[in-house]
Amino acid sequence: MSTVTNRQQFTFQAEIKQLLQLLSHSLYQSREIAIRELISNASDALDKMRFVAMTEETYRDASPLEIVVEGRPDARELVIRDNGIGMTHDELVTNLGTIAHSGSLEFLKNVPAGGKADVSLIGQFGVGFYSAFMLADSVRVRSRSYKETSGWEWESDGSGTFSVAEAEGLPRGTEIILHLKDDAKEFADDYRIKSVLKTYSGFVPHPIKVGDQVVNDQKPIWVEPKGQVTDEQHARFYQYLTHRADESPLWHLHMAVDSPIQFRAILYCPKTNVERLGFGRLEHGISLCAKRILVQGDCRDLLPEYLRFLYGLVDSEDLPLNVSRETLQDNSVIRKIRGVLTKGVLDKLSALATEKPDEYLDFYKQFGPTLKEGIAVDPTNRDRVAKLLRFASSRSEDGSEPTGLEDYIKRAPADSKAIYYLGGPDLASIRKSPNLEIFRKRNLEVLLLTDPIDEFVMTSLHAFDNKTLTSIDASDLELPGLDAEKPTEAEEPTTGGFGKVLDLFRSSLGDRVESVRASKRLTDSPCCLVNADGGLSIQMQRLLKANNREFPASRRILEVNPDAPLIQRLVQLSANPENEPFIRLCGLQLWANTMVLEGETAEPEEMVARVQALMEQAAQAKSSIII
Ligand code: ADP
Ligand code: MG
Repeated sequence: MSTVTNRQQFTFQAEIKQLLQLLSHSLYQSREIAIRELISNASDALDKMRFVAMTEETYRDASPLEIVVEGRPDARELVIRDNGIGMTHDELVTNLGTIAHSGSLEFLKNVPAGGKADVSLIGQFGVGFYSAFMLADSVRVRSRSYKETSGWEWESDGSGTFSVAEAEGLPRGTEIILHLKDDAKEFADDYRIKSVLKTYSGFVPHPIKVGDQVVNDQKPIWVEPKGQVTDEQHARFYQYLTHRADESPLWHLHMAVDSPIQFRAILYCPKTNVERLGFGRLEHGISLCAKRILVQGDCRDLLPEYLRFLYGLVDSEDLPLNVSRETLQDNSVIRKIRGVLTKGVLDKLSALATEKPDEYLDFYKQFGPTLKEGIAVDPTNRDRVAKLLRFASSRSEDGSEPTGLEDYIKRAPADSKAIYYLGGPDLASIRKSPNLEIFRKRNLEVLLLTDPIDEFVMTSLHAFDNKTLTSIDASDLELPGLDAEKPTEAEEPTTGGFGKVLDLFRSSLGDRVESVRASKRLTDSPCCLVNADGGLSIQMQRLLKANNREFPASRRILEVNPDAPLIQRLVQLSANPENEPFIRLCGLQLWANTMVLEGETAEPEEMVARVQALMEQAAQAKSSIII
């Protein structure tokens, strides 16, 4: 028996109070996940103890590492005990009084005050220990650290404070005693406990005992031959690794590799990308095992960052058991595994894209934005990643059917040296862009980029299969045969007529544009904006501005179509100097119109005044016709 003395009171961190409030009032049906969280903490504590014993002889002893679960129906208690590393006084106060995971903080920020959260997501954000309050109305944690000779008792009813007292006579490790809520008393029954443990903790790599019986089989499915692992087993292992209840992975990859290094791995892709739900960056990694024993959970060095959405486990015979976090980082074995794993994932995706294109698109919708980062950061696999990219295209009626670069090339004319694209705020606006006219006329496909990142991707990819990725709003766009059709700049008339109109546009636009010139690319629209050499598109500028407000806007070139009916009318009107103010006004409004098509409302007050002035002039002209 242990004696408890000198009780001290503490207050929970504000976020914890909010979290406990949420958890204790949630009607979350899978609240047995709380047991899984506590078991997984016990298992972590055993892993850490094994590592300590391996590296420091003083702490070695003969007792086997294990977890014991005990139900006490009469006392309405559920007890989970481990002989792991335990916690010191300070560790109890910080580990069980604050939230260390930024993911959980993000989660809480997204919960409307007093509102209901999707508690089923909670498991993914490391609320771990606190989930005990879904089942219990009070929790006691009795723990002795392997470094100390006596221990501590932590206690709380989850309402805002907790206490810590000295506890004599505790064995090494941690004991969690849940006093179950009235409606959760079933969790004190052995039968119920065993069924929960079988469901959620089958893969825990340490024995879990109820009475004398070990209830988990601890079977490492990754060492089994691929074909023998069932979907059901994969789903369970996925749930164990991800702490997600009732979900199966979108796809899995099971690898057995012998050279250049021996390892086995199972990787899982979730169905949804939680980063897109606004919970911040994913922070988990891959579990790393040496000879079937966990050496590091959440190892981030095993996959590049752009594949950070994958969960899984890697097990190698070629790693020493006592490898530490520091030595892992520049470990050549890890580097080699990472190389093979990355290629394995990209090959898997490529096969999925060919064999099950619909499933691949589901994947791409969720993880495409993350995957794209690979173009910029992984030169070795740039082409592999490039093949996996998908874009909307001018080929289909509404641009909605995505295409890859390889398919684009297959459809393009044999002598074509470029892959054309155009960025914009959304498909509807891009499709209205005057820049597309000549491509439609010549039946040339253009990729339509709505994700601002895509223009960066195209710029950093530069070329694919020897075809240059070309933005069709570049000022120096070259189209085969283009120059023959229309006058070049040198031949452009500078006085009278069209030249006069351009001059008037120039004078009214001032430094809103880099320059004003005759267009060779337009067929119907009066005007379009193109990028000056080295200039950035509106989308790119917007993206940069979002990150750095000081970013100077780069000016663009206004191209004017001499064949457009409106421009021809203006050319006629320019013969009379009285019409000059009107033509200037038109120049400003044409420029504003092209900006609107790119999703940018430039100078809105001026624009309203201008449209009003133009309407007044139009009304005047009409009334003179009536009279
Ligand atoms: P996580 O396990 O994701 O770190 P938890 O809320 O589940 O988050 O646990 C918080 C911390 O409390 C753990 O990181 C660990 O340091 C400590 N802890 C919880 N349970 C135990 C245990 N049984 N033995 C030792 N330490 C524990
Ligand atoms: Mg935990």
